[in-house]
Parts: sequence; C-alpha cells; structure tokens
Amino acid sequence: MTDVQDSKRVPRIIPRSEHRISRANISDNALKVLYRLKSAGYQAYLVGGGVRDLSLGREPKDFDVATDARPEAIKKLFRNCRLIGRRFRLAHVHFGPEIIEVATFRALHDPNGDAGGDRVIEDGMIVRDNVYGTLEEDALRRDFTINALYYNIADFTVVDYTGGMEDLEAGVVRLIGEPEVRYREDPVRMLRAVRFAVKLGLKIHPDTAAPISAMAELLQHIPPARLYEECLKLFMSGMALDAFEALRRFNLFAQLFPGVERVLLRDEHGISTRFISAALRNTDERIAEGKPVTPVFLFAALLWPAVREAMQAYLEQDELPEQQALQAASQEVLQEQVQRVAIPKRISIPMREIWNLQLRLARRGGRRAGRLLGHPRFRAAYDFMLLRAEVGEVEQEVADWWTAFQAGSDEERRRMTEQTAPSRRRRRRRRRPPAASE
Ligand code: ATP
Ligand code: MG
Repeated sequence: MTDVQDSKRVPRIIPRSEHRISRANISDNALKVLYRLKSAGYQAYLVGGGVRDLSLGREPKDFDVATDARPEAIKKLFRNCRLIGRRFRLAHVHFGPEIIEVATFRALHDPNGDAGGDRVIEDGMIVRDNVYGTLEEDALRRDFTINALYYNIADFTVVDYTGGMEDLEAGVVRLIGEPEVRYREDPVRMLRAVRFAVKLGLKIHPDTAAPISAMAELLQHIPPARLYEECLKLFMSGMALDAFEALRRFNLFAQLFPGVERVLLRDEHGISTRFISAALRNTDERIAEGKPVTPVFLFAALLWPAVREAMQAYLEQDELPEQQALQAASQEVLQEQVQRVAIPKRISIPMREIWNLQLRLARRGGRRAGRLLGHPRFRAAYDFMLLRAEVGEVEQEVADWWTAFQAGSDEERRRMTEQTAPSRRRRRRRRRPPAASE
C-alpha cells in the first residue's frame, strides 16, 4: 500500500467545508463501491469527471473511482465486477445499466526513464500502461488539472496535487506537465481539451492550446474506432456547434473529416458551412429539449457537403444518372471517412438511406408520396431536407409541400398527390423519346 507522505510534492487538501462535493449528489452505486473498498482497507477516491462536474455544480455523466487496490483484488470484492482493457486495465463494477469504473493508481510516465513494468511506448505514444503507482503519481499522469481532483471517501476532503481546484475556479483547461510531451503520449488529449472547454464553458490555457494546430496530425496514429467514440462525445453532448467551430479553429476537424474540410475550404458561398452549422444547432436544440438524437442523422449531415460535391462531379464529368451518381459519391466519401473515423455499418447504412431519400423527396407528388411516408427513414430524411431548404439547397416550396402533406387528412393528401401527379405524368410523356411506343 502507498503512503502519500513519501511524495515529493505536498498536495493541497481541501476540507469538506471548502468544496461543493456532497454525497447527496454521488450515485448510490459509486458510494457503495467507495465504501466497500474503504472497509477492505484500501484507499478509495472519486476522481475525474465526477469530481470536476460536481465542483462546477453540474450533474456528472458517470463516476470514476481510483484506488490502491489491484484489479484482481477489486474483482474479489465485487461479484458484479469485470476486468477490461488492454491499454489500461480497469475494473468495471456493474449495477444494472450503471457501470462504476474502478482504476488502480498508475505511475507517471517518465519520458527519459526506462518505462519498466507493463508499459509499452511507441514513438512517444503510450500504447500500454499498467504500471501501478501512488496517488500522487496517479494524479500526475492524468490529462488535465481539472480532471485530477480526488474526493476522499475516508474524510470527505478533496486532494489536489496539480492546482486543479484553482483552475476550475478560474475556468481553465490546463494540461498537467509539458503540453507537447503529453499530446505526443496521447494525441486524443487534443480532442479532450476542446471537448471539456466547449462542454463546460472553460478556456484552454494558452500553453495548452498553443501546440494543438501543429500537432493535430498526430491523430492519424489513433485507431479510427477510438476516434469514432470521441466524435460521439464531441457531437452528441449538446454543444455540437461550438465543438465543430473549435475543432476547425484548431485544425483538428481536418484530421477527423478530411474530405469535408476540403469542401469547406472551397465553400465560396458558405452553403456547406451553413448547412453543417444548421444541422448541429438542430442536434443541440433537440438534446436541450430532451429529444432523442442519433449518430445517423449527425454523421449524415456532417458528410453531406462532401457527398453532394462528389455527386456533382459524377453527374457532370461522368454523366452518370442521378441515382448512380449519388451511390458512387456516397461510396467514395464513406470509404475515405472510415479510415479516419470508424463509422460502423449499422450507422452508415441508414445514413445512405437518408441521402437516397433526398432524391425521392425532391420528386414529391404522385402516388409514391403516400408510400414514402411509411418509410422507416422518412422522418429523418424530411428533417434533413428542411435543413437543406434552410440554406437554400432545396426549394422551400418542396419542403412546404411535404410539411403540408404529412399534416393533411387522407382526403387532402389524395388531392395533393392528384395535383402533382398528372403534371408529372405529362412531363414524363413529353420527355420520352419518340421511338418509345406504348
Ligand atoms: P466525461 O466522463 O464527462 O467525458 P471524464 O473526465 O470523466 O469526462 P473519462 O474519459 O471518463 O473522462 O476519464 C476519466 C478520467 O481519466 C479523466 O478525468 C482523466 O483524469 C483520466 N483520463 C481519461 N483519459 C485520459 C487520457 N487520454 N490521458 C490522461 N488521463 C486521462
Ligand atoms: Mg468519466
């Protein structure tokens, strides 16, 4: 077991009367885990987002626990416990849908020293890190000072080795240690800096912000599956528009969505930027209203400017018919995209349906209109078209037609389809080449 007194640094110990963390706001399950570790003779702290968010008066998304108990010992204490992770070995204690993540104190990464233990470093990047350490070491290897506050269940104090409480009070996201070294160890920290700043309304400390643009390219070494998870956190927590703008400023968006960034850089009239902004604003509003949001709509919108531009090229240069041009464009854009951000098939297949439906919605009318209403993606495709109309990509009249059509009674719908159907038939007949006989 470790002894904090041995440490070189002296932590600031914040007494219960001087911080906002109250057991009333900690989940019962997290408390159960903390108390059981403590009764078994281990140190037990709430750490990370839980302490940070409670200190800011926010509701934490989840609760993370840090302890000097080793994973095997944790597993023995909890029947409902599973050990996970290779890069970091962690214990997950399951309580129905809630998972309390319990991590054993890990040692600080010493860039000059021998890694030792079970740590693997490649090109300065940590690929495996299971060297156990003291509470102090655990604090110093964390990413930001605001994420390195420890709430001690033994006496309800907060242990602060890095000045995290002051930074929280000043509203500053600051990396612990040398920023360039810390980004090299794990480039995802650049995305996390942006995410915490945006989500919590904090500023990124100038020293923490300075290297990001130049180091953004390091994200290319991160597995696309991990970047997909980060994208969900960036864009699905109610601050997607701010995240998008910050990611672009820091040159990070280009790493995540290179194809879209290329289109945005050429976006003379600003339609593509406005479209993505409108979609993200819409997502944020839905979250604020407690409505469900899906990554399908989100990624369909983010990639749409690239798809639309590629489709235009297939139409003009290759003279493909509309449907085929869209298929080819979707294929091309997704293929490049999944090399960076691994959008799973279960998401990209319905994304393509939303795109395909844009062509069918543009034709509106006819007897097919009624059938389209029953399509499982109709609602999403319709919402998507409204956004396109908002930026002038689709005639408002078409969007209004669908709005009225949905709201209409059976009788009104019949009238609407009749009004549009005959004219379409006439048009089609006129276009038909003379050789075609009926
Ligand atoms: P939230 O859960 O609200 O997204 P969080 O800060 O709890 O935020 P987690 O990803 O749950 O984030 O991580 C828990 C804690 O683990 C962090 O607060 C931080 O102390 C540490 N941590 C997470 N990722 C890293 C990283 N890439 N480098 C260093 N420390 C990290
Ligand atoms: Mg967390």
